[in-house]
Amino acid sequence: MSKPDRMLSNTAKPCRDPTRRALLRSLCAAGVMAGLTPRRTASAATSVALYVSDTLAAYGFAPPHPFTTQRQASFLAAVEAQGLLAAGTTVAGRAASVEELTRFHTRAHVERVMAAEHDGTTALDDGDTPVFRDMHRIAATVVGSALSGLQDVLDGAHHRSLQPIGGLHHAARDHAAGFCIYNDVAVVIETLRREHGMARVAYVDIDAHHGDGVFYGFEADPGVIIADVHQDGRTLFPGSGHRDETGSGAAVGSKLNIELPPRAGDREFMAAWPEVEAHLERHAPQFFIMQAGADSLAGDPLAQLEYSAAVHRHVTTRLCALAARHAQGRLMVFGGGGYTPANLAAAWSAVLAVLVSA
Ligand SMILES: [Zn+2]
Repeated sequence: MSKPDRMLSNTAKPCRDPTRRALLRSLCAAGVMAGLTPRRTASAATSVALYVSDTLAAYGFAPPHPFTTQRQASFLAAVEAQGLLAAGTTVAGRAASVEELTRFHTRAHVERVMAAEHDGTTALDDGDTPVFRDMHRIAATVVGSALSGLQDVLDGAHHRSLQPIGGLHHAARDHAAGFCIYNDVAVVIETLRREHGMARVAYVDIDAHHGDGVFYGFEADPGVIIADVHQDGRTLFPGSGHRDETGSGAAVGSKLNIELPPRAGDREFMAAWPEVEAHLERHAPQFFIMQAGADSLAGDPLAQLEYSAAVHRHVTTRLCALAARHAQGRLMVFGGGGYTPANLAAAWSAVLAVLVSA
């Protein structure tokens, strides 16, 4: 696997990526460059890879689409204001190859995406996911960054990774869905299961929407332990993720779906959470993945849950503890949904604050 991505450091070569250059400038201005941790010598408390780049930021759709290309910038402004960039290591990603994408997706789907920019297609997924310039390369970079993060965590270069522009959990093996072109999380899971022979991988999803692309992609795989807390599918896209969906065949019991009614807030989530922990403890996963969708916070225009960022902080804290107990601390976090700048900034900066300190 190629690894062109490198962290920012005091010895880094001049950077051509404007986002990273701006970060570098602001970090220098803040006098915190010395706080960036050299690769492989990071302490456990600060060993977090944060994947950001101009290419990742460009995953999004033209106004008035709610999934904009400003999401990464909103998040970075918040973490910079909180001084959190000094505690993590910022890394730019790379594009996944077709071989890597087809670990989960059908070749036909990948070829359709590659062709869409040139054959007059205006939108995938019945219109919800419009075609945009350089779409395949940008979507493949979301996946490639996830695979780089995975390698970081498996190598021990970093104990944890955060991919704010990621967690595209609706994409299915053979089609795009719900703004998601390629399913980065699912490619990571297939890579863990097939390339690394990982017997039990946990996927915990607190996005307002059910993570149907991951769920149905691994519905029959008993080695993929899913816990997904979301707004009741009878009231929200994609309409799935019901209580009685616990996996199929040999995988029955490996999946947990908890539906919360519209307007459920922190109290309802915290009341439901112990069942998630019990489910995870029962299966003792060897690797943890979290999808930290911020559209479950109050005020999101696409969903009706009313959490505060305290939910994201709590879940991250508990998954860090569970990963330490069962999985040698191995934890990857993906941003997921979130359609107001304030909410995604609050939720994901709360996640990062825990990741760099727990
Ligand atoms: Zn969502």
